[in-house]
Amino acid sequence: MKDYHTHVPNDDGGYLCSVTRADWDKVVAARKMTPCFGVHPWHAASVDPAQIAFDLDEWLSRYPQADVGETGLDATKSYRDSLEQQKILLQVHLGAAFRHDRMAHLHGAHAWADLLSLLKERQRNHTLPRILLHAWNGSPEMARDFLCLGAIFTVGLRELSHPNAAERYARIPSDRIFPESDDHPEDFPRCVALLSLRRADPKAFQ
Ligand SMILES: [Zn+2]
Repeated sequence: MKDYHTHVPNDDGGYLCSVTRADWDKVVAARKMTPCFGVHPWHAASVDPAQIAFDLDEWLSRYPQADVGETGLDATKSYRDSLEQQKILLQVHLGAAFRHDRMAHLHGAHAWADLLSLLKERQRNHTLPRILLHAWNGSPEMARDFLCLGAIFTVGLRELSHPNAAERYARIPSDRIFPESDDHPEDFPRCVALLSLRRADPKAFQ
């Protein structure tokens, strides 16, 4: 099983997301993985969205195998002040993913509701790309709304070990939820095992 979200290259394949603009060369160099170009919402306040839009168009044209990410919103205490800048930068990424028909790899810490309304608006405007929600830990109701937008979800050991994991993940169809290491390769085998247990017996979480 490949790793659906990491920033650490490996030889088993998976999606390798950039965090800053300077990472784009590095993610392309990891030949066994799908490179993802983006700027993490943590850095939204320090980049020029117009320049990122230009660069994304150029790099996605040059690398047809690449996806878009990491992007998204983060409303935790340390980052909520830049939420408006994050939204502008997210729209830049989503626009590029839509135009180039790539998947957008999304972060949504404490911001799933904001993310959902922004994505719903894109769906109404017929400009919604394919989306992956990483470290998904939202409510089952919200998961249903994101499923209607075609989302897939990724979870790591941290999410699967949470006391609310049963409630959160039991009703997400098996073909819409995948494992991620999120930079903890040592946890990945256990994460895969827990998810496969769930595939074999959907009640394993209940
Ligand atoms: Zn990440």
